[in-house]
Amino acid sequence: MGTIGRLPAFVYDLADLDAHVKAVKDALGDIELYYAVKANPDPRLLKVLARHVDGFEVSSGGELAHVRAVHPDMPVAFGGPGKTDEELLSPVTRLHVESPGELRRLIASGRAADVLLRVNLDVSVEGASLAMGGGATPFGMDPRSIARCLELLAEQDSIRLRGVHAHLASGLDAHRMLELASATLDYARGLGLADVTRSTATSQGPEINLGGGMAVSYADPDGRFDWQTYGRGLAELRRPGEVLRVEPGRSLTVYCGRYVTRVIDVKRVHGELFAVVAGGTHHIRTPAAKGHSQPMIIREPGEPITIVGQLCTPKDVLARRVPVDLKPGDVVEFTMAGAYAWNISHHDFLMHPEPGFHYIGE
Ligand SMILES: *Cc1c(COP(=O)(O)O)cnc(C)c1O
Repeated sequence: MGTIGRLPAFVYDLADLDAHVKAVKDALGDIELYYAVKANPDPRLLKVLARHVDGFEVSSGGELAHVRAVHPDMPVAFGGPGKTDEELLSPVTRLHVESPGELRRLIASGRAADVLLRVNLDVSVEGASLAMGGGATPFGMDPRSIARCLELLAEQDSIRLRGVHAHLASGLDAHRMLELASATLDYARGLGLADVTRSTATSQGPEINLGGGMAVSYADPDGRFDWQTYGRGLAELRRPGEVLRVEPGRSLTVYCGRYVTRVIDVKRVHGELFAVVAGGTHHIRTPAAKGHSQPMIIREPGEPITIVGQLCTPKDVLARRVPVDLKPGDVVEFTMAGAYAWNISHHDFLMHPEPGFHYIGE
């Protein structure tokens, strides 16, 4: 890492990203793959992703404008709770409807749109790291509200129903994800979508977007979601005419990024060893947000040491009690920093300089 200059810096390996996303798409076959842009909207990453994905999923007007500027012609699905009237007018390939109220506003706008209804099914999402469905959450609609939407849709003809969207949980392995997919497909088929979509749309059958959330383990950096099993399983579940789509974020981009910094100070306080590094959770909030130790490369094993950033808060911990030998001036490389890292962090807290950004492997 001698060539990257000023630290701290994010270093993205674009060749690594390219190979990984290609392997994911190969495993999925003709299951459509969209990338959830909120995981990391870096334009250089989007350019690599665009070689392999079928489209992008955005969650705000800001993300939509950003993606359009980088890739004007890519299909875009627009989801997320709390879309404003202005956002609802955005021309997109698919709009994911989050509530009957949102659908009413959409109909009232007079625009034409192709929509999926986002369902929050009453299924078990036990073991998930985040639950967006399977209970009372602000995401999507329970079956009663879906029924209300179907009534509203039947009374108008500017909004075309294309199918169902479900993003129920994150952090589940391929087998659990296939169980959720199966439950979602059963539900979608029970709605008689084939009839609805045939009467309102093209010859294409109903679409079922199964969301993202494929497991990523920060405790096991070499572990990977089993895309082969998942792809094969989805191919088996799919019925002729159905279009299946997934929209992962974290599991696509997390592995290609590193956060590289330098040790400023090492000290022992009440018996515990601490290394203070340049930067911190205002650059990479992930360990604070998820309450984990950010995985790192251990070059020289040593006494367990807690690695903290420069912020004046006890929450600025990057990794706890890592068995690594560190002294002032040493370079520290945190891995799995390619998703939900820089772009979810509180950059301005304490007004330290921003990190550098480097792209290798093009
Ligand atoms: C965040 C989000 C995703 C991506 O989730 P990951 O855990 O990053 O794969 C996909 N779909 C929706 C609706 C989301 O909100």
